[in-house]
This record gives sequence, structure tokens and C-alpha cells, in this order.
Amino acid sequence: MSGNSSVVYFYDSDVGNFHYGPGHPMKPQRLSVTHSLILNYGLYKKMNLYKPYRATYHDMCRFHSEEYIQFLHQVTPSNVTEFTKSLSQFNVGDDCPVFEGLYDFCSMYTGASLQGAVMLNNNCCDLAINWSGGLHHAKKFEASGFCYVNDIVIAILELLKHHPRVLYIDIDIHHGDGVQEAFYLTDRVMTVSFHKYGNYFFPGTGDMYETGSESGRNYSVNVPLKEGIDDTSYAFVFKPIINDVIQCFQPSAIVLQCGADSLASDRLGCFNLSFKGHGECVKYVKDLKLPLLVLGGGGYTLRNVARCWTYETSLLVDETISNEIPYMEYFEYFAPDFTLLSDKGSNDNPHNANSRTYLENIVKYVHENLRNIQHAPSVQMHYTPPDWFEPNDTNYTTLLSESESANEFYDKDDNKKEDNESKQNES
Ligand SMILES: [Zn+2]
Repeated sequence: MSGNSSVVYFYDSDVGNFHYGPGHPMKPQRLSVTHSLILNYGLYKKMNLYKPYRATYHDMCRFHSEEYIQFLHQVTPSNVTEFTKSLSQFNVGDDCPVFEGLYDFCSMYTGASLQGAVMLNNNCCDLAINWSGGLHHAKKFEASGFCYVNDIVIAILELLKHHPRVLYIDIDIHHGDGVQEAFYLTDRVMTVSFHKYGNYFFPGTGDMYETGSESGRNYSVNVPLKEGIDDTSYAFVFKPIINDVIQCFQPSAIVLQCGADSLASDRLGCFNLSFKGHGECVKYVKDLKLPLLVLGGGGYTLRNVARCWTYETSLLVDETISNEIPYMEYFEYFAPDFTLLSDKGSNDNPHNANSRTYLENIVKYVHENLRNIQHAPSVQMHYTPPDWFEPNDTNYTTLLSESESANEFYDKDDNKKEDNESKQNES
């Protein structure tokens, strides 16, 4: 832990090749573009890159029902007609379509978050980044809002094996409902979500008065915001609330969901944050110097998602990068200006509907609620369950950073590795 913090970064070269379907706003390709930008800015030199572990059926059932995961495992676009009843039962259809490789996609993004948690637990790193993760809407028994398997909940469950208290922070424009629901009754996880609320904005939950129940009472924090919030207003609520939360809850690890749909001009969003304003939150959390798992999430204007997460990667590794996009395979996506931080696209709704008084009242309300919690609740950890897998087991992880060439990043032994994993799946 001495000197610079050590950062691990997960990327599976297949994760960007999935398609939700024509016209669907969620485009996994944004992950390939982000990764390419991160490599071409040379940021890989400051991190240890891993091809992530793939989550197994059993890993996914740590949170989800077996029936639901079995369905995800079996359904394909060609046999979907045999599953008519299950589709409505598991909320799979328009928003959450069945697409080719769906289960593998879930296994990749979930495996990376889980491996990040295991590596943080074992002090293999101070900070772990998985831009493919952060699918915060998925529920125990069903898909929701483009999310199928809740990698965040599964990673937090893993962190709880070593950490008495885990803090979850969500800056996606949508309420982090799946994570909140999973931990609504416990004082070991505090969930803090900043999101657009009102006028039936998806998912419709996240009112200020949702604060948790039973042992979890006051351990769910919601910051409902209105459209058009800008950098100054956002920081005005974010910083004091996170500061209060840290003082009262004293987490030993943090999971940060960095949904990029809270940026100005997101295809589905209505906030007015700049890359700098969004990144300032990431920097603020990083500077708390606690073990940190950084995840992606929403983000539907592809070029801006890549800009945002590349910029945030640079903040996380303390590297200043040029505003000029380096030449790379997706260079034309950044036309006409080819800059990292200036293109936010058109902004149709620049009006900030959040008055100073409105924001002050939220901060005050949250502050009052946090005063009611027992400071830093302790847990008696009689028994620490074993890690899900050995974090340094070369069957699962490939240390990529020893190679200087981007082309050598991917292990040639992929096939062998997948064989091992499928054996694991069957056991
Ligand atoms: Zn979102």
C-alpha cells in the first residue's frame, strides 16, 4: 500500500461484441471503444490489466434465484418461442431482450466485478476497475432496465466476507434500485444513489423517504434530483452527503457505479453534467483512500461514454492526458473535434430545475437521518467463508501488463482456459 496505489483493470476482448438488437440504446460496443481509447492513451502502463474470470452459474445464484439463472442459461434467440411464459415471469422482452450470447455476456461482466472484489479482499490491489459492470437494476428474480445479472450485488456479497461495512455509491442518472433492494434490510451495506426522480422517470423508485427497513433503517440514502442539474449543483449535494456518510458509517470498502447517462446530452438522460463534473465525483471517492471497486453502468451516447470512462481512468491512475484523441481504430467516432473533454453533443434542456433551496433540503434531510444511525455498526465475523476462487490462480486470470504491446495483451491460451472453466461450471 506504500507509494502510489495499485490499480487493476479488467477487460474481456469479447465483451464489446454483443448486440442487444437493432435500435436498442444499450450498445456493448461502447466497452470496446472505451478500452481502445484507454490503451491508446497509454493508461495501461499505470495499471495491471487482467482478462477477467467468468462468473459461473453458482456465482450468479449467490444473489439470483436458480430458476431465473437457469432460464438465462437456456434461452437463445432461436428457442425463445418455447419460453413464452418465462419471458413475462422474468421480465425479458423489449427492454431486456434475449440476444445471442446473453448468458456469456452476463458471465463476463459479473466475473470481472467478482474478481475485483476478491482481489480487493486479498489486498492484491487498492482499486479495481470494471467498466463492463455496474448493472444496477437487475433483481433477484428478474431482469430490469437492460440489466440481467446484478454484478454489483454479487461483488458486494464477496466484499462482505472480509469487510464489516461496504458503502455503495451510484451516480448513474437512474436510481440504483436493484442494489438498494438487495441490501434494504441490513446495516452492513449503505447504498447511496444520486438520480433523476419524478415524472415516472425509470425505474420510478428512489424517493428521499426510502431509507431502509428493520436493521437497515437509515442505511439506504436517496438523493432525488430534477432535470438539468449542472456540475456545481451536483457537487453541492454529492460532497457533503458522501462526507457525512463516511463519518457516520465508516465503511472499510467502497463500490462506485459510474453510469455515464448522467452526462449532458445522454441519449436517455436529462442531466447537464460535464465530463469534469462527473469525474470530480469519481476523484472525490478515490481520494477517500479506501479499497475501491469502480464500475460502469448506463450511458447511451456512445462516444461520450468512452470519453467519460477514459477520462475517469486517467483520474484513477493520477495521469494527466491530452485533450487530443489519439489515433485509434474508432477515431472517426470522435469527429468533428477529436477532443476528449469538449464534445457533449447538443444540449436540448440546459435549464437546471434544482433550486438551491431544494438541494439544501435534501442535504439537511440526509444529514438528520444519518445522525440516527449507530456509528459504524460492528459485526462479529466468527467465520470468514473461503474466497470464491484463488485470486492469483492462473487458470482464471491473465496478467496482461507485463506486455508492452497492446496486441500481446490477450492470452493465446484462451481455449485451454475456457475448457477449465466449463469443467468448473459443471461441477
Ligand atoms: Zn442509467
